[in-house]
Amino acid sequence: EGMSLDYLRSPVVCVLGHVDTGKTKILDKIRHTNVQDGEAGGITQQIGATFVPEDAIRAQTKMVKEFVKTEIKLPGLLIIDTPGHESFSNLRSRGSSMCDLAILVVDIMHGLEPQTLESLGLLRKGNTPFVVALNKIDRLFDWRRMPTSSVKEAVKKQNKNTKDEFDERVKGVVTEFAEQGLNVALFWEKVDFTDYVPLVPTSAHTGDGMGDLISLLVTYSQGVLAPKLMLSEELEAIVLEVKVIAGLGTTVDVILRNGILKEGDTLVLTGTEGPFSTQARALLMPQPLRELRVKNAYVNHKAIIASQGVKITGKDLEKTLAGTPIFVAKKPDEIEVLKDEASKVVSSMLSAIKLQERGVYVQASTLGSLEALLAFLKQSKIPYCGVNIGPVHKRDVMKASVMLEHDSQWAVILAFDVKVEREAQEIADNVGVKIFTADIIYHLFDNFLLHRKELHD
Ligand code: GDP
Ligand code: MG
Repeated sequence: EGMSLDYLRSPVVCVLGHVDTGKTKILDKIRHTNVQDGEAGGITQQIGATFVPEDAIRAQTKMVKEFVKTEIKLPGLLIIDTPGHESFSNLRSRGSSMCDLAILVVDIMHGLEPQTLESLGLLRKGNTPFVVALNKIDRLFDWRRMPTSSVKEAVKKQNKNTKDEFDERVKGVVTEFAEQGLNVALFWEKVDFTDYVPLVPTSAHTGDGMGDLISLLVTYSQGVLAPKLMLSEELEAIVLEVKVIAGLGTTVDVILRNGILKEGDTLVLTGTEGPFSTQARALLMPQPLRELRVKNAYVNHKAIIASQGVKITGKDLEKTLAGTPIFVAKKPDEIEVLKDEASKVVSSMLSAIKLQERGVYVQASTLGSLEALLAFLKQSKIPYCGVNIGPVHKRDVMKASVMLEHDSQWAVILAFDVKVEREAQEIADNVGVKIFTADIIYHLFDNFLLHRKELHD
């Protein structure tokens, strides 16, 4: 651990929960944008981050009277949206390990669902504190929206039928959590949340309860969590995405969780062909309240203080492996030491993947999407004999072609969200290796199943 600097960083907040509970929509509401509609197949394919600065917090919490008087000591909140689909559990676990605090979203009409329990497990494993957003309250019978009231007031002012349904559903959820060994309570019922997890009724649709949710996150962060949010000298950062941007070349999108990143810093990163070092040429950030994934103009920074989502430009970045940490070498002789550290991280990630003797060859753009795809194949009982990350090269085709001698149904490359080099495609066509490409897992999978069906018919 590096020396602690006398400054509170923004907490990294994760949004977890079952698919379709409204995780993305809650973020959209906070951002006033609509990313949810633009997502490929409705699934968040990668982790994105949204920085909510102090003035946005103020603007969105005006209806919470007690909070209006509270001094905000944090620069803001950095919120991470995690992918919702089941097969993303590994990516989710990596995302959540970066989190200081989490929002567990539960649909008030559905109660606890399979991924609620899975998320709960991750939060407990990581000892991550969280609040429960009991979302979609607007779907209660005859709910009337009251965006200028706190949610406690809003509930109180509903018709009796609505209020009764609310009470009943809350009681049900409290019981379901109790069955999981967890005490939850409506946030206005308890003063001390050391023993209880606060439950905040929300509607990402009408905005009811959203101010309460934000103010609760801030109050908790600058209270109980403050000792963990001290800025440290040591950098803690993880690469989320590697992307080519017109005019900038290949860039990496990074969550800077702790420390200060400076222009010109010597970075040690993990690449598809091992660790490498490069200079941070430019540090870019989108306008506040926008997500890194949404196209917009970037602002240049000389230095960036955690926590932030940062886009870095520099030489050789196209080699970077998403999902891996970034190190900064303060002196030239640190580079080799840090490279050793970086290679340990990846070899432990890839060697954890168990391969079969016969099976398809799987290729993906990031470790996260590779894991997601493998989880999908496992579920479907489709074996895999090789994996790789990055574009499909000649050598990948050669490896997959080995299956032609054993069992030609497996002479297949499933390529998720990666390019196929022209030479590789030519060789594949010549020798008879079938390459399937797609950027939505379901499509890739459907195409492959169709191919197998044709083979067997
Ligand atoms: P995610 O899978 O958890 O990210 O869920 P989404 O944010 O994609 O939301 C799933 C669906 O529920 C979408 O059709 C949303 O418009 C809808 N939804 C989300 N939040 C609310 C809410 O508070 N009220 C209502 N009525 N619908 C919601
Ligand atoms: Mg989503």
